[in-house]
Amino acid sequence: MTNNTEALNAIREAVGPKGWVDAADEVEPYVTETRGLWRGKCDLVVSPASTKETAAVVRICADGEIPIVAMGGNTGLVGGGLPNGGIVLATHRMNMVRDIDPVDNTMTVEAGCILADLQTAAESVDRLFPLSLGAEGSCRIGGNLSTNAGGVQVLRYGNTRDLVLGIEAVLPDGRIWNDLTRLRKDNTGYDMKHLLIGGEGTLGVITAAVLKLFPRPRRTETAFVGAASPEAILALFTRANTTLGNMLSGFEYASQFAAQVSFDHMEGVSNPLSGVYPAYGLIEVSNLADDDTARDALEAVLADALEDEVIVDAVVAQSETQSAAIWKIRESIPESQREEGASIKHDVAVPVSRVAEFIREANKRIIKELPGTRPCAFGHMGDGNIHYNLTQPPEMDGQAFMDEWGRFKKIVHNLVADMDGSFSAEHGIGTLKRDDLATYKQDVAIDMMRTIKNALDPKNIMNPGKVLPD
Ligand SMILES: Cc1cc2nc3c(=O)[nH]c(=O)nc-3n(C[C@H](O)[C@H](O)[C@H](O)COP(=O)(O)OP(=O)(O)OC[C@H]3O[C@@H](n4cnc5c(N)ncnc54)[C@H](O)[C@@H]3O)c2cc1C
Repeated sequence: MTNNTEALNAIREAVGPKGWVDAADEVEPYVTETRGLWRGKCDLVVSPASTKETAAVVRICADGEIPIVAMGGNTGLVGGGLPNGGIVLATHRMNMVRDIDPVDNTMTVEAGCILADLQTAAESVDRLFPLSLGAEGSCRIGGNLSTNAGGVQVLRYGNTRDLVLGIEAVLPDGRIWNDLTRLRKDNTGYDMKHLLIGGEGTLGVITAAVLKLFPRPRRTETAFVGAASPEAILALFTRANTTLGNMLSGFEYASQFAAQVSFDHMEGVSNPLSGVYPAYGLIEVSNLADDDTARDALEAVLADALEDEVIVDAVVAQSETQSAAIWKIRESIPESQREEGASIKHDVAVPVSRVAEFIREANKRIIKELPGTRPCAFGHMGDGNIHYNLTQPPEMDGQAFMDEWGRFKKIVHNLVADMDGSFSAEHGIGTLKRDDLATYKQDVAIDMMRTIKNALDPKNIMNPGKVLPD
């Protein structure tokens, strides 16, 4: 326990009896994460009901130099949201949609809104909020903003950063910064919101945001294809991109092993193709017109690719149920992979043109390093972002395999760096990748980051020990 009992009591008072917990069993969900890789500790979990209450809490923490870790849905995958003392500031009670406007095409929302609820809110005014990812039923928009989340629609709509017009945040000294602008044009100096977006809670607590809405597609079509290699799937992507243009809303890749774990281990998932292939692709197209334009265009691309022997097999979903079944293949991979034993994960990006080369070369290097290791590569090929996971050799002890994480990580991240890529495409830095930041990020960039951190948070109370290397 911190000895700052007085400050903690003041925080309890600021948020009222519904706004805090400190009993061990109630604190537990806030100090553990889904995969059990890290365990944190804290003195108090606070859940303010408003921006004003958040500011009051932060002011007390600033005075007492008490660390604050903001928490949304706790679905982050890099250990960024786990506290190491101080308080957790959970956002779930700030969950209002303050305003939604189909003329401005905007939605002003509080940080604790669950992503899936925001998709539904947009739909209620016949609009689309396109951010979509596997954890959407539990992650919260403040977490999405703070990690600049990606997901399955980046190809067409961009990352979270691209979906934001304005934000409201509480700065590390407790001041409220209200920049909830709906403007599409505003060139008035530095665009400060982009520091907090992707800032992983190290520069302030995001309390609300103005999000962009889009016209809602009337038709969405999904296809699943099999091919001889990742190069072939990449060639299909290039064709699809050229022909389908803006209709192309998702393009995912799965290696044979990645798709097979899903077929084998996830209930209700099966291979919709007539054979088993070394590489698979999932294509989604969507269109505003309520006619067959998107479907016809997709079928034409696939027919040409089959005729030219770019791909070997293809199926186009005939119903929403079939489309959901195809997406389930892709979305079930991480969970299904667990059934095959221990796994080491990498979330990397390379230029799209080099994705296939990356997969091939990484497989070669990893298997040479430890024969029997089963690469499980899948992800957002259209964004150049591959989740390059490794499953243990079947006979090996799981823990012994996990002990090799550093060795494998170095091989994969060195290769990514050689290909002008990123060692963290969408999950951020958190705790997991601080040493990678020190290794792979330019010194001048780290210097700028430190300068900004010191300027905004001189007492280092916002998520200390995360993102920046020591
Ligand atoms: C099954 C699954 C699939 C996933 N798929 C994707 C994917 O496709 N793309 C992707 O990008 N990510 C993905 N993720 C990772 C994760 O869901 C995202 O990073 C998500 O954006 C985190 O949101 P959260 O609310 O759970 O944040 P948390 O885990 O609670 O927090 C994440 C970070 O943001 C900070 N933070 C949270 N709220 C605030 C706030 N209001 N102000 C300031 N800082 C804050 C935390 O301190 C922490 O550093 C996936 C995770 C799972 C479990």
